[in-house]
Amino acid sequence: MLNSWNATLLLCFGLVPAINAQGAGALPAKFRDFKVYTTSTPDTADAGRIVATMRLLNSGADALNVEVSLSENRAAGFAGKAFQGRIEAKKEAVWEFDLRPPDGLKYQLLHGAITFAGANTGATPDRELFVAVQGPDPVDFGDTRVEKITARGQVIGTHAPRTPQRVHSLVAATKPSTSQGTPLVLAAGGSSKYQIAFDRLVSPPDAPQLTFEQYSSAAGRPAAEIELAEAVGDLRRCVEVKSGAALPVVSAVPAGAGPAIRVRIAPELPGKPHPDSYRLRTEGDDVVIEATTPEGLRNGIYGLLTDHLDCHWFMPKQLGEEIVIPPHRTVSLPPLDETCGPSFSSSIGMSWGSAPRWDRQNRSVINRGRMNFGHAWAGFIDLKLYPFDKFPDMWSRDRAGKIQVHDSSETSTNFCSTSPEVIRIVAEKINAQFDASPDAIVASLDPNDLAPLCQCDRCLALDASYGVTPQDDKQMADRLLHLSKEIHVQLKPQHKEKYLGILAYGFQTRPPKKAVPHPHHVTTVCDFPYYFDHTRPFNDPTSSYNREFESIVKGWGSKVKQLGFYDYYGHFDFFGPWGIVHKMREDLPAFRDAGGTFIVIESQPNFSMNGLNLYVA
Ligand SMILES: [Zn+2]
Repeated sequence: MLNSWNATLLLCFGLVPAINAQGAGALPAKFRDFKVYTTSTPDTADAGRIVATMRLLNSGADALNVEVSLSENRAAGFAGKAFQGRIEAKKEAVWEFDLRPPDGLKYQLLHGAITFAGANTGATPDRELFVAVQGPDPVDFGDTRVEKITARGQVIGTHAPRTPQRVHSLVAATKPSTSQGTPLVLAAGGSSKYQIAFDRLVSPPDAPQLTFEQYSSAAGRPAAEIELAEAVGDLRRCVEVKSGAALPVVSAVPAGAGPAIRVRIAPELPGKPHPDSYRLRTEGDDVVIEATTPEGLRNGIYGLLTDHLDCHWFMPKQLGEEIVIPPHRTVSLPPLDETCGPSFSSSIGMSWGSAPRWDRQNRSVINRGRMNFGHAWAGFIDLKLYPFDKFPDMWSRDRAGKIQVHDSSETSTNFCSTSPEVIRIVAEKINAQFDASPDAIVASLDPNDLAPLCQCDRCLALDASYGVTPQDDKQMADRLLHLSKEIHVQLKPQHKEKYLGILAYGFQTRPPKKAVPHPHHVTTVCDFPYYFDHTRPFNDPTSSYNREFESIVKGWGSKVKQLGFYDYYGHFDFFGPWGIVHKMREDLPAFRDAGGTFIVIESQPNFSMNGLNLYVA
């Protein structure tokens, strides 16, 4: 996602081909270094005229000479116009053009091109440009989930993908060239001198030596080891499909005993502290994959296969697998040395558990997705032990003192988070959770799904201490951060480094007014459907919903050290074809720029409609 050539959550550093091979400074170094957004507003002095404002943002490190053209479109009332200008690094240009939409305009696309003028660009357009214009909604249009259009025409979206020609030239530029040195020939014409030296096969001196097959099928092995064996199996299978040669998988290949692809644990990986990182390099005739964990080794194997040996998993299982068979069935690898680490600290993958192997093949599982949590209050106070009639003080009440019962198959009544007895029980249970799961890094303190929060005098007095009034709808973050702090104080010393999490969701979506999160508080901002814009990146200001959501993301990002992003890339409301690649490739870097550290993607298993979106993300 952050390195569009790798289509992966991992960023690579090392001897990788320069993406901007056409000349420094002439083109944006990365796709997202140049962004285009367009808004529009009616001219108050001239009822028939709509003024469109296009923002051209250069967020790269070099100035750009930009030429933009939009062709005439009479059905949209647009005469055509061009822009030319130099945009300095980290600056933007604003270009206005106007439309006179005819009566009855429904939807039109303005079409154009963007060219970056420079010595080596050849004056060929780098981007196509599409500006969508929509006519007014019917007078009785009542859907509040989307913005009602009342103007004669309104710009509703801008899309500027690379031209197919530019994509082809960039792909060609990533192919290995002879200038990188003599490539290693791993296999050719059905035979190979290479073996796979897999150090997990090394047995203790008094134990029997396992074959790879015995190791892979041995019962009781940890999941990370099983998944690594599966990756080694994919490495062997891919090389065989490409070349016809079956590489033996052995525990060790002594020096001088022939070349090897060495998959081995290293004590440390300089400069890459994340446990899922890996180093991939050539050393003499050997290929060496090193990491500090089995997860890192697994990523290293898929890094070799995807980034260097042209093997891809666009969708789960055989349907989405592409193992390119090279000319003369020769599998070669140029000299390389790269160290790759994840862009985020944790991710559950892109398939939401539907295709875990595919997630691993695409390196989208990070830290085993351990930073993940959901609605949790239902698990703390047992209604059988503390029934409403005997313990009303422990439950969420309205101003009249009536318990706000909210029990259904999907959610439950909330407790009162200022009850001392409740706080004591919650702290006890969180300590017990951490005791029982030493591997856990976070426990959830998130209220039940959209259940109303307590309005008792004590809770409102706490709100007031943070400047929150009863009239503040959806401003419960301060109160919940206070609870997070109170629970953290009561954690056992051995659990103090763990995190307590709350979702920015429902009544606690907006950042706090005054409460300061403790250092081990974590918030996951949910791009919940109310805020959801199906088609535009969340930093695209064209959408009023996006403008609000972006301010929420940035607000939380400025306050917490661990910020998660929960999005619905594969929506439970809509199962049709949904092209959102352009949205995801901006959303995720923009989230990271706003202080984001981990992601949780909820997607439905409709891979035929949605799989390629998730692959690109
Ligand atoms: Zn209360």
